[in-house]
Amino acid sequence: MTVLNPVTKTTEFGGPIGSLILIIFLPLVTLFLFLACNEIYLMEGFNLNLQLLKDAFNIYVYNDLNNLLFDYQSWKYYLYWFISLALLDVYIPGNEKFGIKLRDGSKLKYNINGLQLVSLLLIIICSRFYLLGFNLPELNFLYDNFLNLMFTTWEFSILLSFFVYFTSFIPLRNKNGNGNGNYERILSINGNSKNILFDWFIGRELNPRIGDWDIKLFCELRPGLLLWFLLNLSCLQRQFQKIGYITNSMILVNLLQFIYIIDGVLNEEGCLTMVDITTDGFGFMLAFGDLCWVPFCYCLQARYLTLKEINLTNFEMLIIILLMIIGFYIFKASNNEKNNFRSGKLSNLKSIKTERGTKLLIEGWWGISQHINYFGDMIIALSWCLPTKFNTILTYFYVIYFTSLLIHRQIRDDEKCFKKYGNSWIEYKKKVPYKIIPYVY
Ligand code: NDP
Repeated sequence: MTVLNPVTKTTEFGGPIGSLILIIFLPLVTLFLFLACNEIYLMEGFNLNLQLLKDAFNIYVYNDLNNLLFDYQSWKYYLYWFISLALLDVYIPGNEKFGIKLRDGSKLKYNINGLQLVSLLLIIICSRFYLLGFNLPELNFLYDNFLNLMFTTWEFSILLSFFVYFTSFIPLRNKNGNGNGNYERILSINGNSKNILFDWFIGRELNPRIGDWDIKLFCELRPGLLLWFLLNLSCLQRQFQKIGYITNSMILVNLLQFIYIIDGVLNEEGCLTMVDITTDGFGFMLAFGDLCWVPFCYCLQARYLTLKEINLTNFEMLIIILLMIIGFYIFKASNNEKNNFRSGKLSNLKSIKTERGTKLLIEGWWGISQHINYFGDMIIALSWCLPTKFNTILTYFYVIYFTSLLIHRQIRDDEKCFKKYGNSWIEYKKKVPYKIIPYVY
């Protein structure tokens, strides 16, 4: 046991058993969402038609398993995608920013170039639409090879998790702590339990890097988020090919999710203070979540709308857009407020000083609830589900899952902050009693 990397004594997510269950269960959920929403079977209401689900399984998976598991083409295109984005991430010039202070006293340098990358991607896509109309072969490929690509990203995230797990044991080339320390890598506080399975799942190293290229921030913001955007577009294109026009519900889902995705990519600097970056290690949980779960589960509404055309009234559109605006406003304003406060601005707002010296806001957004930003995110999630109307519970998967994820995240953060701030955290909770939703929870 060293001071820099203490052994993890209490494990999250139910420890090794819980992580084993999640390693198996999460990919099965992504598969289920596909099997319940495809050309053979589209789940209606709350009823699951087991016979049709089985038929879909047999046709898409059982009879095609070899192809799904070892699909050369999907692998080839996915590697092109991943590697091109990684090269652009490294070589497109951006602003140099530093992350939070690490346990060895150093701060990692990041190349913030999301705006340049998004502009490039949008120029390419718009010019291709202009030249080819709604018939881009790459989008057709995405739609037609959805399941193969899902399997590929699942396999890729397993391999990537092994890579980062094994490299976490290799000593650094340069001394840590701005050259004052030793060659030890900084491990995640949660991922050094010495249980191989658990550490592999939760992520052993805090910030795995190849040179200056930060694998965790890259995976969080680039290949998965942008693939989600392209998968949505592929559904929009397919709808146009099928019926000759694009429904307003499809435009809405694409637009609302596009705003969120692009905001995520552009707001790289804000992500540097997110729990994922500051606290969690990078292992299977984040690799799978970023690369497979996000793109292939989050595009469910768009896929559903390709299979079932839904036209919304102007009033329905208005309500949905209003919800998105309110949710997005709460989400952005509260996250910005905390970031500004943490970087020394907004000293006029009331706060309490903790025993560690850092302050906790008790006024503004952070005086309303302990995670008001999560509340904004929940409203956004609901606004994405509503364009599919109320035909099936399936398309509400996102808001149900996301609410549970944020509640779980709040509980994890509560434990983290109690460990970090002790009595000051208890005092903070007395002043700001609601956890996420004001007057409700
Ligand atoms: P938060 O942004 O809520 O950050 C929690 C941290 O903020 C705490 O650990 C503490 O860290 C600090 N903090 C807590 N209370 C205060 C306070 N009163 N004053 C100042 N600092 C405080 O959590 P996340 O990083 O989990 O989420 C960031 C955003 O990302 C959220 O909007 C969330 O909804 C979104 N998100 C989106 C996901 C998606 O898939 N779309 C997934 C997960 C999150 P410290 O004191 O150490 O600075």
